This record gives sequence, C-alpha cells and structure tokens, in this order.
Amino acid sequence: MIIDAHVHVYDEGWIPKAFMRGLGQVVAANMARPTGEYPDADALVAGATEQLKDPTGELLIADMDEAGVDVSVIFPVDYALGASEPCSGDSECVPIAEQNRIFSEIAKRHKKRLVHFVAVDPRRRDAVAQLERGVTEQGARGLKLHPTAGFYPDDPACYPLYRKAQELGAIVLFHTGTQPGPMKAKYSRPVFVDSVAADFPDLKIIMAHVGHCWWEEALALAGSKWNLYVDFSGWQRAFPAHADKFYRMLRSALDEIGPWRVMYGTDNPYLKLMMPSKNYIAAVRDAVNRKDHSFSKEELDIIMGGAAARLLKLD
Ligand SMILES: [Zn+2]
Repeated sequence: MIIDAHVHVYDEGWIPKAFMRGLGQVVAANMARPTGEYPDADALVAGATEQLKDPTGELLIADMDEAGVDVSVIFPVDYALGASEPCSGDSECVPIAEQNRIFSEIAKRHKKRLVHFVAVDPRRRDAVAQLERGVTEQGARGLKLHPTAGFYPDDPACYPLYRKAQELGAIVLFHTGTQPGPMKAKYSRPVFVDSVAADFPDLKIIMAHVGHCWWEEALALAGSKWNLYVDFSGWQRAFPAHADKFYRMLRSALDEIGPWRVMYGTDNPYLKLMMPSKNYIAAVRDAVNRKDHSFSKEELDIIMGGAAARLLKLD
C-alpha cells in the first residue's frame, strides 16, 4: 500500500498571488544557476498554474493511478498573509472556511482514495470552531498549520487549538523548514514544535518535510518525543544534484525513530513539476540498492504506506 501523506490541490483563488510570485522567484533562481540569467518569474507562474488547476481533484486521482498511490492526504493552506491579531486573512483568496469545505467535498467524492485535513491559522477568531466543524461534521482527520505565515508553534495563543485537536483525536501537521517569500522560515524551525509535543504528549504531531535544512534538528527532537512524526515530502529537490543527501537523511530518520514515524509524501502538485510521483517512488524504493547505506524492503514498505495507515487508522 502506498500513501502520500502530504498533498495539496490547487485552483485559482486558493493561494495568494504573493505566494505564487515567491514560488516563481525560487524556480527562476534555480533555473539561473548555470547562467546567472533570471527568467521572468511571473511568466513561469502563469505557465505552471495552467497545468496545476484541479478544482475537483480529478487530476490528482489520475496522478495517483499513474504512480500506484492508493491514498493521499490532502489539505489547503491558510497563508493568512498580512494577518493582524486577531487574524484577518487574505482578502484576495476564497475564505479558508470555504476552502476547508471544498476539500472535504473533494475527499468525500473520492472516499476510498483521499483523506483530508483542515487548515486554519491559529490566530483566527474562529480557529477552534473551524477545526471542530472540520472534524466532527466534515470528516477531517487532522489539522495543517503553516507557521511561516507569522506565528511560532509554541505561542500560547495557539494552545486552545491544540487542546481541541487532542480532544478530537485529530493529528496536527506543521510545515517545518524553508519557504518562498513572503513567508518567513524563522517561525518554522522544528525546535518550536518540540514545545508543543512536550505540552501535549497525547497529540500526534507531524513535522512536514523533516524540517528541510533543519532535518537533523527535526530528527533529534523526534528521537526524544514519542508523539513526533515526520513526512519527507519535498525531498524530490535533492535528486538533481544530491541524491546521496536524501538517502543519508532517510537512513538517519530510520535509525533515529524507526520506520513507523516516517512517512512518504510529495507536496504535490507543485513538486510533480520537478519529479513525477512515479519517479520519486521509484527513487525511494531504489534505496535497497544503495551501496552507501543499507535499507530493508520491510522498512521501505512501512514508510511508503504502513506508517501512515496506522497513524490515520486506515484499514
Ligand atoms: Zn505542503
């Protein structure tokens, strides 16, 4: 069984233009590596958004079928750009409550293939109510949080939301690691998630992307808290130049916390433009053939789906 533990679905109006511009700038900078010539970031975004639009999730299901993925965990992101206290959010975007409803509809339409999480910035006045409605009325299994919008995970203002998540048995997933502008990475260092894990020992918490550049920090923390999990979505970025870095991270994760708290994920649809799921899965499976590290097939089976199935209580 293959479970992709970290997937977004994209449509226009769900993501602030400022974030898409930031994403385009990162892609432009990557393309400029050999020549120093930056392509036009806005043109890159315009080209990509046409390929990414998937308001009903049909494209995602087709991608899953192609790659042999059984189940995907989908969620919107509450970017809450320019949020003040209490959070006002993005006027240019479909309100996050409506996006949560849309994601629940998409998941319902593909009941056997999709599981969804609610996304809500903890600074919103109705954050707790949105989470509760998402779980009890719309069938969400967890909560996705994006600290790079401007809050530290261990800010006491966020605690009512964690309390509710723990009470509902919902999983909490934090973006950890870097992000394009205008988002700010300083809020998403894994160490701030550690405090939440300490204060809510019965809350199951996923550090997405294994903290990117802070992967060693993320794994060290997970090694000392029983409720911290990681997903290795976004690590497709290692493959063009540093495949060895990916396998070193993965081996370290397995050594530090064992396979049952390590989960495959993609961060698609964005990352599929860099590496299709089919290829990423093949690259993970190829770990058994590495000469620099040794992996067992059993370990890979667990991280590709067994661990997520157990965490999400899927049969
Ligand atoms: Zn993501």
